[in-house]
Amino acid sequence: MTGQPRIEAVRGDITTEHVDAVVNAANEGLAGGGGVDSAIHRAAGAEELHAACAALGRCKPGEAKSTPGFKLPARWIIHTVGPVWSGGGFGEEMRLSSCYRRSLEVADELGARSVAFPAIATGVYGYPREDAARIAVRTLLATPTAVELVRLVAFDDETLALYEKELAAAGLAGS
Ligand code: ADP
Repeated sequence: MTGQPRIEAVRGDITTEHVDAVVNAANEGLAGGGGVDSAIHRAAGAEELHAACAALGRCKPGEAKSTPGFKLPARWIIHTVGPVWSGGGFGEEMRLSSCYRRSLEVADELGARSVAFPAIATGVYGYPREDAARIAVRTLLATPTAVELVRLVAFDDETLALYEKELAAAGLAGS
């Protein structure tokens, strides 16, 4: 059965989330980087995660691939690569939307029922936060999935407020 997941927004550190899968905002080389990627590598166990990522090869923007979660509370990590913001005229929206859709599809392949997402591409990659929050909520609502719970994990208050606004606009109460 596929349907629509319950979506909630929280403020927190995604590495501590007790969900089936956490999504990583990775880079194309899946080589580990800064921001949430580095936090996930540290918390999961950098050596093991690095080796698992190396075995996956590269990942194109908008695509998603999975590894085990190793030392994380989450059983799996879904690595997705956001678009680098270049002003909005270079397919950035389509690729960011694809990150959310493909991550849910990979979650379905894994059998994950709860998935936590960071604000993909809104750090070093420079995607405007408000647009990114809107794309996240709209894409998650438009993607049929067996995932029952999606938790949008904001690392800062501004991002949390944007998620809550988008959830309210979609007729869903934030948490
Ligand atoms: P990108 O390269 O895709 O922009 P970043 O890691 O630079 O990825 O940033 C993506 C988002 O993740 C930013 O909003 C950043 O504040 C947030 N972030 C950084 N560390 C964490 C963390 N431990 N948990 C959740 N979100 C985080």
